[in-house]
Amino acid sequence: MGVKVVRTVQALRDAVAPRRREGARIGLVPTMGALHDGHVALVTHARSLADVTIATIFVNPTQFAANEDLSRYPRTEEADLARLSAAGADLAFVPSPAEMYPQGFSARIELDGPARAELEDRFRPGHFSGVATVCAKLFLQSGADVAIFGEKDWQQLAVVRAMARDLDIPIAIIGHPTVRETDGLALSSRNRYLNAEDRARAPTLHRVMTMIALQARQGEALPSLLEDGRRMIVAAGFVLDYLEARHADTLAPIITLDQAPARLLVAARTGSTRLIDNIAL
Ligand code: AMP
Repeated sequence: MGVKVVRTVQALRDAVAPRRREGARIGLVPTMGALHDGHVALVTHARSLADVTIATIFVNPTQFAANEDLSRYPRTEEADLARLSAAGADLAFVPSPAEMYPQGFSARIELDGPARAELEDRFRPGHFSGVATVCAKLFLQSGADVAIFGEKDWQQLAVVRAMARDLDIPIAIIGHPTVRETDGLALSSRNRYLNAEDRARAPTLHRVMTMIALQARQGEALPSLLEDGRRMIVAAGFVLDYLEARHADTLAPIITLDQAPARLLVAARTGSTRLIDNIAL
């Protein structure tokens, strides 16, 4: 049986309500569509935790800055719905921008803490406010018990977790490990923009991070490893936004691995495509 598609908040609530009355546990997987195997893994994970799995497809305009790729963000609804059906999702919530942000919409969540870690927030002003606002709406619209987010967007995972906790939204936020190509490149909807040269360069990010993690665990000093890593990424032809070691939860800067749990996070541009990634340190 295919995934049931709903496009309004009311239709979503009507579809979920009878299942909730039966005591079913509701799982949510928010996405912006252009689905790949990473998204499918989140759906599979949600199915293992919930009785009803809802995937959402919404390219959220409020999380794109004016200079970003909102208009050229890939939209592949038909293929996405086929993937969701194959993955066993029960419901696909595919709202229009007007459904999510009707005339007069004026709320926006303001964030501190991990949203101001000077990582993505430095390069994407307002991004996490848009993410938090749309996620809060999706959590409240669906009434989900659990939501699955990819570790690929580590800062986003930390921000959403803090937001749900701070606003007392009764939902468990679960992270899922990053799904990668065999050469280490993290799957991303934006990878389809990579030309052959950029695609060949792209796995450098994971390779450099893996090397740093290995040497850091062997006792090499983090600051000089990070300096070497930054040089290697630039030498490979990237424009580097950041390569940083942070506390995994607070995202505060760290200098040694004694301050674990630690995470290594990177963002870099190749051609017109911006790639982000992270691994455990
Ligand atoms: P997006 O559609 O890019 O907004 O991503 C939707 C969800 O999928 C987010 O929770 C992402 O972190 C997650 N995701 C994206 N790429 C991957 C990946 N390669 N592995 C695991 N999760 C991912």
